[in-house]
Amino acid sequence: MTIFVTGGAGYIGSHVIVELLAQGYDVVAADNFSNSKQEAVWRTRQVSGADFPFYEMDICDVDGVATILTAHEIDCVIHLAGLKAVGESVSKPLEYYSNNIVSTISLLTAMEECAVRKLIFSSSATVYSGDNEMPLSEESRTGNCTNPYGWTKFMCEQIMTDFSKAHKDFSVVLLRYFNPIGAHSSGMIGEDPQDIPNNLMPYIAQTAVGQLPSLSIFGDDYDTPDGTGVRDYIHVSDLATGHAAAVDYLDTQSGVSIFNLGTGKGASVLELVTAFEKAAGLKIPKKIVARRPGDLAVCYASTEKAKRELGWEAKKTIEDACADTWRWQQNKQRDSTHV
Ligand code: NAD
Ligand code: UDP
Repeated sequence: MTIFVTGGAGYIGSHVIVELLAQGYDVVAADNFSNSKQEAVWRTRQVSGADFPFYEMDICDVDGVATILTAHEIDCVIHLAGLKAVGESVSKPLEYYSNNIVSTISLLTAMEECAVRKLIFSSSATVYSGDNEMPLSEESRTGNCTNPYGWTKFMCEQIMTDFSKAHKDFSVVLLRYFNPIGAHSSGMIGEDPQDIPNNLMPYIAQTAVGQLPSLSIFGDDYDTPDGTGVRDYIHVSDLATGHAAAVDYLDTQSGVSIFNLGTGKGASVLELVTAFEKAAGLKIPKKIVARRPGDLAVCYASTEKAKRELGWEAKKTIEDACADTWRWQQNKQRDSTHV
């Protein structure tokens, strides 16, 4: 089976490709490098010990995508290409709506043209409305997104659902990721933010190596055990096995299926910082600051449906993720000083 991975040079894409190749799938990937580097493709090939065709291409290019789908006889697409910075989506909404929605429509157009009928989409827990009880199940209310990025995921889910209603032989799995963290255990691939990171883990990692002066902890007065925000942090390699499970699942299903990819357990900001300090053997400079507007106190997944129907569950711990992130961050640091 041959799988086309869009956004294949990105953080999650590179780990998904490694897992698919390890499981014996053929992979073809594309990326426009708007938030990644050519080097990530080289690193992914190194970690996999395998080659795969890669195209520098914008997924908004319908003809370009159709050419790939036909040339490689693609059976299934994993659509990860997209812009993902929440804060940037507030200041550049049109860029986010345009890129994330047009790329999805272009991809579906090319898939229709080439009769490719299986799709896996990288959605997010941000599609859930902020007024739900925890844990969030796939049945929890969606909408009321707090930023344009979240709305693009919400709208893409709707577009794929409508497309699937119109094409009975088309099947799609919408994967709602919680908080992906960590890196490949080799330390060869990981998250490589181009700007100052928004997310907690890359911020901790860059503070640890002195790239950033200090971590700001957004609030310690939440109604949580230590007062800091609680999230469901999932190791990116577990996320990758979740995608492989979704590929198998698509063989037996039609229509739209939705799955949370999380661990089902929450960890606080302070717990993650402490785990990282232990893994790295150093102290992270940090200060408590005001809450970040729009943040929830607690957010974690119900993983029952994924366990039951995908036969998948996350195995790695936040300690594993911290050790792997630290290895990756040190490797990156070493490489950058050799350039
Ligand atoms: P990433 O930025 O590392 O990877 C996305 C890749 O898509 C980048 O390499 C970028 O260059 C590419 N890209 C963007 N627009 C493109 C286009 N029009 N054509 C071709 N390539 C394009 O991000 P990631 O963390 O690997 O996320 C992958 C997907 O998962 C994204 O859609 C993101 O929204 C979603 N997601 C990520 C998280 C997270 O916390 N990392 C959480 C939930 C959902
Ligand atoms: N957070 C923080 N400092 C940072 C970044 C994040 O204290 O520099 C907190 C944030 O308030 C939340 C948690 O870390 O409680 C996870 O934030 P992230 O942005 O990584 O994920 P999201 O909020 O999108 O779930």
